[in-house]
Amino acid sequence: MKGFLEDANYSIGLLDEGATLGNVIDNYAYEHTLTGKNAFFVGDLGNLVKKHIQWQNVMAPVKPFYTVKCNSTPGVLETLAALGTGFACSSKTEMALALDLGIPPVNIIYTNPCKQASQIKYAAKTGINVMTCDNEIELKKIARNHPNAKLLLHIATEDISGEEEVNMKFGTTLKNCRHLMECAKELEVQIVGVKFHISSSCKEPQVYIHAISDTRCVFDMAEEFGFKMTMLDIGGGFTGCEFQLEEVNHVISPLLDVYFPEDSGVNVIAEPGCYYVSSAFTLAVNIIAKKAAEYDNFLPAGTEQTKSDEPVFIYYMNEGVYGSFASKLTEKFNSIPEVHKKYKEDEPLFASSLWGPSCDELDQIVENCLLPELNIGDWLIFDNMGSGVMGEQSAFNDFQRPLIYLTMSFSDLYKMQYTGLTSDTLMKNFFFVPSCVQLSSEDSFTTAA
Ligand SMILES: *Cc1c(COP(=O)(O)O)cnc(C)c1O
Repeated sequence: MKGFLEDANYSIGLLDEGATLGNVIDNYAYEHTLTGKNAFFVGDLGNLVKKHIQWQNVMAPVKPFYTVKCNSTPGVLETLAALGTGFACSSKTEMALALDLGIPPVNIIYTNPCKQASQIKYAAKTGINVMTCDNEIELKKIARNHPNAKLLLHIATEDISGEEEVNMKFGTTLKNCRHLMECAKELEVQIVGVKFHISSSCKEPQVYIHAISDTRCVFDMAEEFGFKMTMLDIGGGFTGCEFQLEEVNHVISPLLDVYFPEDSGVNVIAEPGCYYVSSAFTLAVNIIAKKAAEYDNFLPAGTEQTKSDEPVFIYYMNEGVYGSFASKLTEKFNSIPEVHKKYKEDEPLFASSLWGPSCDELDQIVENCLLPELNIGDWLIFDNMGSGVMGEQSAFNDFQRPLIYLTMSFSDLYKMQYTGLTSDTLMKNFFFVPSCVQLSSEDSFTTAA
């Protein structure tokens, strides 16, 4: 399969009926074992197609604007562009990526709450008009740099998850909305709608009920000021799980029917990010160092001890929070990896902790999990890593990003073609993966360092 990646700027392996994603991972683990054991991603673009079909089935009236910062891999953006999503961008780089794909500026929104003036100018120059705003200083900056901007007032939502928010809070109060409208009138800036965002850690239906009724209040207020309100953005926070999407839809659709019926001329949009990409990507990392530790010293205080003479292992992997596990710093992450090498069912399991390569105390990826004993050079496979794929713009200069291998199955490609959703640019990147790639000789993956 070598040689393909050099030709185009990306390529997509088209999987024959017989070949599974597991075969693809086996294949690249083998290849990487021979060539230096760097970590790598395998992304299944067919998964994006399935997620989009699921969205259409459950939430059709809400138009998705994919949040580019979650994963800006060209193949991902191209697939979503072909599927017809809009794009929610947080920087000039992301807006440029979307425009380069041929996305019309009306299908791009600029959603960063703290925008750099020069980047607002870039949006103005390229015709990207819809952007969010939650305070007066931001409003003045937008007025100076983008007189044709169409603002979505970003309103705050309550957090009743009972968990401590690690993320910074954005969004304004209803009271301040009135003040912002006065300012906007004075500065002759248009306000066209409202945006709110409810994080995936808080999916209590009441939060949506409050947010949508608050939105209605802001719309009514805006009418007093003579603004023509046409857009409601319900943000992101969708995990990708069908049940969660159905639950949210179950709560919001009756409210939308009452407050924003179809004939009201209000477009309802959302900003799903993780929803589309999370489960599409798998990360394979390699064990680069290993330490055995005393069981007693390792367990958190208060934990019951059973086998105090048993060793525990600390493993260091070649990816950590300063790379593909960056989301570990801001979100809950409790993914337990799969061990790639084959091991016997009755093999003993040991308490193990997994760390990134930086030797930094923040760089712990898994605090404690049970694994068979691993050797240096073994592979661990992490699922649901789609939002860990870093775009060009966020990479440090000396940081080697894992290679990304993209695939799609024939049947998913048919699904896309059937609905007329492929694009020529996407199609030219496919290459055929014969089903004979299914190699797997257990031991070849674990050659010692
Ligand atoms: C990150 C982000 C999203 C996407 O969040 P998900 O939880 O991935 O859906 C949406 N809107 C804004 C403004 C964001 O910063």
